[in-house]
Amino acid sequence: MENKVVLVTGAGRGIGRSLAIEFAKAGYDVIVNYNGSEAAALETLEEVKKYSENSMVIKANVANAEEVEAMFKQIQDTYKKLDCLVNNSGITRDTLCLRMSEKEFMDVIDINLKGTFLCSKQASRMMMKKKQGSIINMASVVGISGNAGQCNYAASKAGIIGFTKSLAKEMGSRNIRVNAIAPGFIQTQMTDVLSEDVKKNLISQIPLNTLGTVEDIAYTALFLASEQSKYITGQVIQVDGGMLM
Ligand code: NAP
Repeated sequence: MENKVVLVTGAGRGIGRSLAIEFAKAGYDVIVNYNGSEAAALETLEEVKKYSENSMVIKANVANAEEVEAMFKQIQDTYKKLDCLVNNSGITRDTLCLRMSEKEFMDVIDINLKGTFLCSKQASRMMMKKKQGSIINMASVVGISGNAGQCNYAASKAGIIGFTKSLAKEMGSRNIRVNAIAPGFIQTQMTDVLSEDVKKNLISQIPLNTLGTVEDIAYTALFLASEQSKYITGQVIQVDGGMLM
């Protein structure tokens, strides 16, 4: 049986690295995308290749249309198909709205939301030819609840949720499913910067009483990529220990 192919954006570290490794373990050929951190991406690839030899790294800024197009051309030339796209790349530029610069606002929108659009557009084209595919967008509970100090990030993640539902409606008849995962607080570099006091306070608001792990997100993505979720599209799956109900 031919392997399935997945592109994970921002797969050098954190949730993206775990996604790449778990998809490789499940038998996928994995394209490890990165933008700034080549060494981290190569480390991910080394781990991925233990399970899936036919995997590769591609550098591309997801916010740049030409670079995204070139990445998908390379995928088409190499694998001739794409079964799953995980739009995982994301950044934060936190500060109160009154202090937020236009650049801090737009950088987050460009990478988180426009990047998701650019990659999904290219992936949809490839998937339509095969009449199957799964697109998984990394949202956040903050895109549902809002969060002080994160107007830019929350807007980008709320945008991703609207985008996910709209694309799911456009692509359903082509057998392409589009879903979002809304993580709560997951232990990564993104949350390592929080002080111990802030973390303690956060954990006290989580019914399951702990931060999530990167594998918690990867296992949900694997389910959304698989046939086991073939009747699920346009949904936002919260993986947050019950934090937001
Ligand atoms: P992270 O450790 O900061 O990793 C972010 C990744 O995004 C990096 O691999 C980075 O790669 C990539 N990236 C940044 N700008 C990029 C660009 N222009 N083009 C391509 N890739 C780019 O973040 P994380 O915690 O793993 O989060 C992953 C996703 O989950 C994000 O979308 C985040 O918003 C979401 N999320 C995380 C949490 C959490 O608690 N950690 C909660 C909710 C949602 P380079 O360094 O190579 O650029």
